[in-house]
Amino acid sequence: MENFDFKQAKILIDKADQIALIIHARPDGDCVGSSLALQRVLEKSGKQSCIISPDEIPEFLQWLPGAEKIIVFEKNKEKAKEVLQNAEMIILLDFNALHRAGKVLGELLESHLPEKKFMMIDHHLQPDIRIPYRFSVPSRASTAELVYVFLQKTGLIEYMDKETAECLYTGIMTDTGSFKFGQTSSDTHRISADLLEQGIDSALIHSLVYDSFTTEKIKLLSEALRRLKFMEECKTTYIALDRHTLEQFGYEPGDTEGIVNYGLALKDARFTALISQKPDEEIIRFSFRSKGDFDVNAFARKYFNGGGHKNASGGSYEGGFDEAVKAFKKAVKENCDQIVKS
Ligand code: 5GP
Ligand code: MN
Repeated sequence: MENFDFKQAKILIDKADQIALIIHARPDGDCVGSSLALQRVLEKSGKQSCIISPDEIPEFLQWLPGAEKIIVFEKNKEKAKEVLQNAEMIILLDFNALHRAGKVLGELLESHLPEKKFMMIDHHLQPDIRIPYRFSVPSRASTAELVYVFLQKTGLIEYMDKETAECLYTGIMTDTGSFKFGQTSSDTHRISADLLEQGIDSALIHSLVYDSFTTEKIKLLSEALRRLKFMEECKTTYIALDRHTLEQFGYEPGDTEGIVNYGLALKDARFTALISQKPDEEIIRFSFRSKGDFDVNAFARKYFNGGGHKNASGGSYEGGFDEAVKAFKKAVKENCDQIVKS
């Protein structure tokens, strides 16, 4: 899959003066870091470019250089539409299906497919966006890592600076769970070493991203841990946070980020889920994580209209909250053998 035509991609970029970069809904460190790095390099090479995010950038990423300029589709639809209209090229970062940019922005992108040049840089399994220029490598640990490779192979790396390195490092660090998830490779470390050589302060970046809890978030985490359930016979844990609970703890976007990982901290847990209903959404969201061989991408696709990676995925459920929890428990029981032996 790494047989992407970088030469042709560079020619297309050279021809486009205005480039729009699009990231996925409920943006994370990987898509925000990847887009800011790519934008910075493109601007330094003489291009005009804008990043459109479907939703607000969570506070723990707002320190990233350039984050304040990101156009939030939810808040500024007209401006975003204008940027898309004027763009000669649209680059999709860190998602594999148009609906992952949100319903309305996804449909807008779909309407531009026939008449604009599109490119995609992503590492999710089973890409489902039919465009010729797809740099899609699911074996890589993050899109930020792929952006680094893209810069190398297109020669754009000459515009790399300390701020670009900070953005890419943040993407790699967050999507690898600070270099601990399975897909973290020698390449991940080599690339990170190159980024460190740009003079970035990795300890500071770690602290800005992870040591940024508000008191409400600390309290929410403590409530979440109190609610952690263990389905011992299926080596599965889950945390369910309904709308009322999130409201009670003054929920802000990004507050549930990372909570799902605590479900795997339990020694005997092989599979975990965070089930939540955000105060501003009807839909019930699932985050899934696994250790070892249990494929949570397949699980999310089969039961919860979602997807992602083998050990980290997400999905959703339309209906009541208790019903969603029941549907999850039923799906776990159906997969119990596979989880236990994973
Ligand atoms: P998270 O649990 O951190 O929100 O998401 C984990 C992974 O699953 C991410 O790579 C994300 O892109 C993917 N993911 C999360 N929610 C969905 C979803 O509703 N649909 C699909 N296809 N992927 C999702
Ligand atoms: Mn990613």
